[in-house]
Order: sequence, then C-alpha cells, then structure tokens
Amino acid sequence: MTGAKRKPPPWLDTSLPHNDRPRTQLCPRCRQPILRALVGHVAALDVRADPQPLDTRQELAARLQGRSTYCLRVHPHLPPRLIHRGPEHIRAGHCRHLVVADHHCTRKPAPAKPCAAPEPDRLF
Ligand SMILES: [Zn+2]
Ligand SMILES: [Zn+2]
Repeated sequence: MTGAKRKPPPWLDTSLPHNDRPRTQLCPRCRQPILRALVGHVAALDVRADPQPLDTRQELAARLQGRSTYCLRVHPHLPPRLIHRGPEHIRAGHCRHLVVADHHCTRKPAPAKPCAAPEPDRLF
C-alpha cells in the first residue's frame, strides 16, 4: 500500500444496496456508471442497470438480448426507486416511469491468460 489510493467521486456510493433505491455506481469491469439497487421485496435481486432511459423499441431490443428491464420511479419528493417491470406491469398500460435495462457490459470478463506475465495495474 502506497497510500495513494484514488478517492472515489462523491456521487459514487459503493456500499451494498439494501433496498430498491438506486445508487449510482461504476461497473467494476467497464467503469461505466450503473444504477444498483435491490429490486423486489421477496428474494430481492441485486440489480445493476444502465442509467440511460429506453424507449419502447430499445426496451424490446434489450429484452431480446435477455436483459431484464425496470421502471425507475422518480418522484419530486421521494427518493427514486427501481422496480421490476413484470408482465403485469407492462400489460397494465403505458406507465410514466423511466425504463432502464440490465447493465450491458461492454467489457467481457478478462480471459485467463496463464502464460502471460501479470502486468502491473497502471490504471491507478
Ligand atoms: Zn412503470
Ligand atoms: Zn460493465
């Protein structure tokens, strides 16, 4: 430890989610901002979603990729909440929530390279 640990930006909340109030975090792999929340009350899912709202066509494309979509409920006086967009919710009609989808990671997990010498981490 050199003590030169980079401080995370103040908007970054790296703590684990305890409820469906989304926190802005960075994807550990591609370093893109993501929304992270526990969605659902029973067997809540630890969700990492992309913050960009989707239109209907983009949501369909995301679902065809096997990604789940969520409603981002924003209220002027309440903290935002991330809720699962189940079939009932979609069937109930056009809701006014922002729709976001599971984070689409642009970086694949680093492949194991048993022969390559480990490179020093120069990112930090
Ligand atoms: Zn909704
Ligand atoms: Zn990612």
